[in-house]
Amino acid sequence: MTQKNKRRTAWFFLFFAFCSAWAFSADTQSDAAISLYDLSSKIGGELFWDPLSGIARMVKDGHTADLRVGSPLVIYDYGRAERLDSPALVGGIPSVTVSFSKRIEDFFTSLPPPSSYKVGAILIDPGHGGKDPGAIGTASIGGKAVQIREKDVVLKVATALSEALRVAYPDKKVLMTRSGDTYPSLEDRVELANGVKTGPNEAILYVSIHANSAFNKSSSGFEVWYLSPDYRRTVIDKTEGDAADLLPILNSMMEEEFTTESILIAKSISDSLNATIGNKSPNRGIKEESWFVVRNAKMPSVLIELGFVSNPAEAKLLADDEYLKKCATGIYNGLVTFINHFEGSRGFTAAQ
Ligand SMILES: [Zn+2]
Repeated sequence: MTQKNKRRTAWFFLFFAFCSAWAFSADTQSDAAISLYDLSSKIGGELFWDPLSGIARMVKDGHTADLRVGSPLVIYDYGRAERLDSPALVGGIPSVTVSFSKRIEDFFTSLPPPSSYKVGAILIDPGHGGKDPGAIGTASIGGKAVQIREKDVVLKVATALSEALRVAYPDKKVLMTRSGDTYPSLEDRVELANGVKTGPNEAILYVSIHANSAFNKSSSGFEVWYLSPDYRRTVIDKTEGDAADLLPILNSMMEEEFTTESILIAKSISDSLNATIGNKSPNRGIKEESWFVVRNAKMPSVLIELGFVSNPAEAKLLADDEYLKKCATGIYNGLVTFINHFEGSRGFTAAQ
């Protein structure tokens, strides 16, 4: 859970404590209705309630039920919708009928335990390849000028990274968008990413690896990018009909969820790259962007720029296989940190 959500939760609990006390003394209509606050306590979940929009979200172990006062629809896990009696405000508190409450309880109690969340697949994407060399630079090695191509650098790092991940996680799918000097188009990469099959509580991580280039030959350093929160993907396509008016809200919530995970991966990788190559290449930090591959991959995703082939000193580093292994180790450590965090906590809402 994010800090923001914690604060929000604390605030709502205070709000509800106040409202419950008030409603108990001032309202006798609540006999036939169950407040969402009580229902949430009963299932051991959390309630987020926005009195302005009338939208309530119940959350437990990363699963959600979204509903709105006056609307008969409940949406489970951003996808499946069910039509029940519309929730109403009783003494200012969002409340539901007994049968409604039973359905919500059934949903949350039929879920698998939170420990079943895991990373099912890691998709490593070495940028460019084949006819597309990516950025090109020149390194002076043993007095000779050697051409350094981004496509070769990133393939070496991606290969070493994949090998390490396969050893560490024999139970996870570790895939590469290319394993040789071939050119999968951006669309091919996205299609591959979205076509990876995982179990119902499994997430896929998407890690794209690149090297940088700049007109200014003194530019140097590595950076890790994640998807801009401003970009709103339509990740919910299963919900139809009356639920359409809720989609923009659900979409933005889903986006926030993916972004949070992507920022966490980006931060982990940036920190651990800093530990392995930070003494050779400056850390340019984590950045946000709505680049193509991530934008269309429905999963938490990051893009790593390992350094500048346009900088003669960095080109020399990127020509060194030992240095590239350190890059791979840095990314590997960052992913392991993230996976430990992810699998040790609630996981995030499955969006398949
Ligand atoms: Zn690139």
